[in-house]
Amino acid sequence: MIFLKTEDEIELMRAANQLVAKTLAEVGKHVKPGVTTKELDKVAEEFIRDNGAVPTFKGFPNPCGGTPFPASICTSVNDVVVHGVPNDTPLVNGDIVSVDCGVLLNGFNGDSCYTFSVGEVTNEVAQLLDVTKKSLYEGIANAQRGKRIGDIGYAVQTLCESHGYGVVREFVGHGIGRKMHEDPQVPNYGKKGNGPMIKSGLCIAIEPMITMGSPKIYMTDDNWTIKTRDGKPSAHFEHTIAVHNGEVEILSSFEDIEKTK
Ligand code: MG
Ligand code: MG
Repeated sequence: MIFLKTEDEIELMRAANQLVAKTLAEVGKHVKPGVTTKELDKVAEEFIRDNGAVPTFKGFPNPCGGTPFPASICTSVNDVVVHGVPNDTPLVNGDIVSVDCGVLLNGFNGDSCYTFSVGEVTNEVAQLLDVTKKSLYEGIANAQRGKRIGDIGYAVQTLCESHGYGVVREFVGHGIGRKMHEDPQVPNYGKKGNGPMIKSGLCIAIEPMITMGSPKIYMTDDNWTIKTRDGKPSAHFEHTIAVHNGEVEILSSFEDIEKTK
């Protein structure tokens, strides 16, 4: 069931997502060679709690029956696609790290992800990040009222596959509100004119997970970490959006992140 949001609810969603944006910017200031993802997690958790919110991911139940998620952010390095668990391995020059952050503030969730470069990355990797981020905005441009969810995935898929990249199938975007994951599912692939109709009040997270090579993935034995099978890097950008007042509003933001770079 899709819960369409009222203006008051969208106001609360905006606040939660702006806190996620600020958290990601705070984390971004610390992304450099030598820092560990556990250290980044500490920065995020403190910032979220200092702002009166709860990190949604911490203690998140494991869908595969393993241990709950132990940290406040997912930190997915290089060939890790999503759900990387923060650890003690220092980042090195040329790495990329996708930082996925969720907060619960005043009963509503925010969710956004940004893939950061660590020091200097190769042109090939820089292009993967660039195209993945562009595909997110293409998806958003296709989320207008009256279109269908399949139009979003079609836009993301068309751009990414035109560059020879892989579109991960097993993980998708989602409705978001009082719960982190609500209906509908928002795949990063699809057909024009397919899927649920986009109506005013719809709040969804759009989140292309794009691989440099094959889209095939596997889960490591921690039951969380998802990696590419071919070992090639993967990028992940995510915004939470609201469809209302005849437009598509991006509730999260990369503005502060990109100011600090
Ligand atoms: Mg996310
Ligand atoms: Mg999400």
